[in-house]
Amino acid sequence: MKKAVLYARVSTTKQSEQGVSIEAQLNQLKDYAAANGYQVVEEYIDRGESAKTSDRPAFQEMISDIKSDPDTYNAVLIHKTDRFARNREDSIVYKSLLRRDCNVDVISIKEDFGDGAVGKMVEGIMEVVAEFYSDNLAKEVEKGQYHIAKQGKAVGKAPLGYKIGEDGKYKIDQEKSKIVKRIFKKYINGQGTASIALDFNKHTHKFKDERNWSDMAIGTILKNEVYTGVFTWQDVRIENNHPAIISRDDFKLVQELLQKRKKKRSSKKYDAYLLQGVARCYECGGKMHRNFSSQKLASGKKKRYVYLRCTTYSKDRTCYVNHHRMKDIEEAVVQAIDKVSKGLIPLNDIEVAKTKQTDISAKYEGIKESLENIENRFDKQMEAFEAGVINLDQLKKYQKRLKQEKEELQNQAKELEGRLDNEIDKDLFIKKIKDAKDTLVNDNVSIQQKKNTLHSIVKEIKISKKQELIEIIYKF
Ligand SMILES: [Zn+2]
Repeated sequence: MKKAVLYARVSTTKQSEQGVSIEAQLNQLKDYAAANGYQVVEEYIDRGESAKTSDRPAFQEMISDIKSDPDTYNAVLIHKTDRFARNREDSIVYKSLLRRDCNVDVISIKEDFGDGAVGKMVEGIMEVVAEFYSDNLAKEVEKGQYHIAKQGKAVGKAPLGYKIGEDGKYKIDQEKSKIVKRIFKKYINGQGTASIALDFNKHTHKFKDERNWSDMAIGTILKNEVYTGVFTWQDVRIENNHPAIISRDDFKLVQELLQKRKKKRSSKKYDAYLLQGVARCYECGGKMHRNFSSQKLASGKKKRYVYLRCTTYSKDRTCYVNHHRMKDIEEAVVQAIDKVSKGLIPLNDIEVAKTKQTDISAKYEGIKESLENIENRFDKQMEAFEAGVINLDQLKKYQKRLKQEKEELQNQAKELEGRLDNEIDKDLFIKKIKDAKDTLVNDNVSIQQKKNTLHSIVKEIKISKKQELIEIIYKF
């Protein structure tokens, strides 16, 4: 069954005197819903003073509810468009945006444009208007969310461990709150965020299906004050708003531990390293990341090693132990680049990002299409202007924006045309590689800079322990 919300308001004193009371509006709306097969799921009503102010809290709450959960609703039923928004311009804007962004129809039961010529024109214009006012709705939604948040009610989804209760506030989700408690407990007992994530991702673990845990996700939960019963949203902050899952003392302790462990972790861990972002596991395609490990020497001293390791393996052990001494891999990569720079390898044997040409032509097609689309949009704006839906200033502003967009696309197209024609220029390629190599072996250059240089010539580097193989895919 189609689901609808009802919106009713008395917008002016004059209207209240005329006696189209809210009750009368609601009755007619309900009749309409019943006759047309709609199930009414919610009523939003702005009465008296609140209906006159620009706030219209119920209206904003409605827009916000629909926007945050568009699949639940099919239509908004209103009496006449002038009750839906302050004026006709507003009305058509909201109608357009609700339809485009949420696939929700606004039906004014006392005013039907129908399927005739006027109806068709209105449809066409609505598309243009929606584009014109996109950010307007975003602002309105934010206002509505603020109104909700001020009452300590959930805006959007509840965080893990909570559900949204009938009163709109968080209430404890008994099952999932156990996960939250467990995370805090483990952390307090000395386990790190990455290790907790790994635990939760293990196949045998009962939380396995919840989500793919990362140390970041664990960290986010540990830092979320919501679990102590505090509600925050932008600058709204309400203490004791909902039941706590974690005691304030435990939460405080965890924040101190987080600070301490952060300081303790060598800042080195966050330094850039040469192969950051380009190294991939040959077998599973996952990223490879830096990993530290230490070994006790016979003397009792610890020696630290730096490895490059498959992330998939680190995360849930579904790949094999594809790990390598960082130094070895870095050396091998620089050596390979050196060979290319000296022209020792025939160009045909070098993997020069093979997908390049097809990538470019697909992109080119896309740009061509967008350009055609822009012509269409120009026409639609004119229609909207001629029909009096947007005024001359708006038309000018909008057309200016489109013109800029068009010029930008034309420039991109031109650049791509040039590249489509060009075969790879061997000398140029070798020179680029040689320059890069000089930077890579220069001791006076920072790691960050070396990394950037490597990124400028290499698309990715596939590494396999099983096959003892390093495959470099160059960019051109
Ligand atoms: Zn792997």
